[in-house]
Amino acid sequence: MFAALGVPYQLLPVPPGCFDETVRALGAAGFGGANVTIPHKEAALGLADDPTERATAIGAANTLTFADGAVAADNTDAPGFIRSLPRSPAGATALILGAGGSARAVAWALRDAGAAEVRIWNRTPRRAEELAGEMGLEAVREGGPADLLINCTAVGLGGGSAERSGDLKLLPVAADDLDEYACVVDLVYRPGGTDLELAARERGIPTVDGLEVLVQQGALSYEIWTGRAPDRAAMRRAAQNFDAPTIPSSGRR
Ligand code: NAP
Repeated sequence: MFAALGVPYQLLPVPPGCFDETVRALGAAGFGGANVTIPHKEAALGLADDPTERATAIGAANTLTFADGAVAADNTDAPGFIRSLPRSPAGATALILGAGGSARAVAWALRDAGAAEVRIWNRTPRRAEELAGEMGLEAVREGGPADLLINCTAVGLGGGSAERSGDLKLLPVAADDLDEYACVVDLVYRPGGTDLELAARERGIPTVDGLEVLVQQGALSYEIWTGRAPDRAAMRRAAQNFDAPTIPSSGRR
């Protein structure tokens, strides 16, 4: 989208120790804003002069806007996730797998969108209990039927279409149980599909992949900065064709 506008956009790997001073310098150097990703989202919220209520409630920001020497911060992961769904989750039931950063944004988004029931499972149950307690949701120790199943764990980066890796064994949902869900969302993106996505698709269950969630959160950041309607189809195509550059490790100079 920025290439189409002729506006420069660049990737900037930043070691955690330099995050605050780098972000402050970006605004002073004339940058309009920044998309922030792992592991800086909490720090991005922490340094913001003007965070939205949503970013504060989630505890993380992924969109920074620089204006008049101040840093505004928002979280578009939550509304981006909602927009990626085939229909509104209002009144729906949901099972979230995971209790890390993305699970926090998804749990908040579902509650905010009026989901009737949100359950959280995590490999480390204590973290699911903490997140559920904080958001007024329910922590569970096993799977079970729901309208939406959302994988917010890191499980899924292995496997794929050519070779199933047995990733589902790490989750509380067996392939044969997937009929208990009306829609399966996998925040992890893997070209060809994650094991979870492939198993759901084989059973004819609608799926949403991590690339769609990525595109939707980026589209909303673009809208915040430019005030223009994003061309999501163009963004989707660009994301599918993106050849990620090698990022030097944060320890290297
Ligand atoms: P995070 O904060 O590091 O959380 C990782 C989560 O994965 C934790 O719940 C962790 O459980 C669980 N986990 C890790 N290894 C596991 C295993 N072998 N078996 C079961 N559970 C395991 O990461 P995050 O920011 O939430 O991101 C999670 C994934 O979502 C990432 O891999 C990323 O690919 C994807 N993501 C996609 C988007 C998008 O736009 N599509 C956005 C954000 C994230 P424990 O608590 O037990 O360690």
